[in-house]
Amino acid sequence: MTKIGLEIHCQLTKLKSKLFCSCKADYRGFEPNINICPICVGLPGSLPLLNKKAVEKAAMIAMRLGCKVPPKIGFFRKNYFYPDLPKNFQITQYNVHGPTSIGSEGQILIEDKMIRISRIQIEEDPGRLIYEGDPSKSLTTFVDYNRSGTPLVEIVTEPDFTTPKQVRTFVNILSDLLDNLGVSDTSLEGALRVDANVSIDKGEKVEIKNIGSFRNLEKAIHFELIRQESLAERGMPIPSETRQWDEGRKITISARTKEEEQDYRYFPESDVPHVLIKDQLLEKLKENMPESIISKRERYVEKYGIPNQVAEVLSTDKFYSDLFEKAHNENNAKEIANLITTDLMGLADTKEKRDQLKLKPQHLSDLADAILNNKITRISAKTAIHEIAKTGKPLSEITSELDLGRVDDESSLLNIIDEVFAEEKQAVEDAKQNIETVNYLVGKVMKKTKGKANPSVTLEIIKKKLK
Ligand SMILES: [Zn+2]
Repeated sequence: MTKIGLEIHCQLTKLKSKLFCSCKADYRGFEPNINICPICVGLPGSLPLLNKKAVEKAAMIAMRLGCKVPPKIGFFRKNYFYPDLPKNFQITQYNVHGPTSIGSEGQILIEDKMIRISRIQIEEDPGRLIYEGDPSKSLTTFVDYNRSGTPLVEIVTEPDFTTPKQVRTFVNILSDLLDNLGVSDTSLEGALRVDANVSIDKGEKVEIKNIGSFRNLEKAIHFELIRQESLAERGMPIPSETRQWDEGRKITISARTKEEEQDYRYFPESDVPHVLIKDQLLEKLKENMPESIISKRERYVEKYGIPNQVAEVLSTDKFYSDLFEKAHNENNAKEIANLITTDLMGLADTKEKRDQLKLKPQHLSDLADAILNNKITRISAKTAIHEIAKTGKPLSEITSELDLGRVDDESSLLNIIDEVFAEEKQAVEDAKQNIETVNYLVGKVMKKTKGKANPSVTLEIIKKKLK
């Protein structure tokens, strides 16, 4: 039977400082080896001081994933030699005498499948190796320690997945959940990294490391399953090893034989004392935790009558659901949800585009009201959103500049409809025979007015004229 388990590393990007020192947690955009201090490069004599906020954020993740949080947590040294790890050990958590990591035994429902979370641990990120050119051929490797000590949470699942697609769905849901919880901006490069353990019936566990994107994750697991099955068919052994995903060739390649846990010689990190996690702290965190995606979706459906599919799209995206929360009132909520999901999301679908967006909650609220009060058609609203997103001008200014006001009065509509009737004689005859084809004529009127005609008034006039 196919078994796939995941180890997900999530940077707590919303924290200001690193896990054990006061260097910036956001290491991005610095010159190499600037964002460092004696603690995060492990100089002799330096002492780590635990970032309490990291413990709180990790506890929130643990609770949201249904994990048990123990009354006391501890830290361990995981010993290994690698150039990106200046101390030659990583401070992490390890469950050896009972659970001392921040979370264990959780679960999360993915579609109809329950995925068990075996543990969640707090640890420090190593530095980064930067290769000159192609990593497999590069003769020069640079080390940048700016990332060293950045707070990470590792989420380890049980091997409960059986298909690559399940994995992808899970990682998508998990990244939405982490964004929504306000602990991480998972869209940042390197903020969410996944290793997958893959095994089939007759084989040992193979770990695939360093998979860059979610899409590649699905591909890498798919490739690995085929590779293992073909070995098994030929009666060849599937050794336990670590493999790398080769993005260029779309295959996994052998990297090294897999270390066993005992190879790391874990031992307690005596420089970081145990931390007591009091019930009061957990209660306080729970109270202040953002609403979950599921409860948000249900609220949108029940309170505002937003269709389930729209509510689902809106609730899973923190950026847009925050915008919705600021913009809506009881009356225009449904219209705003509509504007966001049909017009705005496609317009600003990347972080860069979202950052450049000039549209404010008030714009959306004004626009929804204008639609509801018949001042602007939905088609014109689309044009207006594009213009607001670019310029940030108030709706009233944009409506008059672009002449987007709705054409309601019968006399001006009648002139346009006469023109259309003159040009579309066959369509008029068709509509007389079969009224269902009348939308063609309405469409022509909308086109002539650049979407500004009131569709229901237009339809009425056309119907009258057809009689
Ligand atoms: Zn530091």
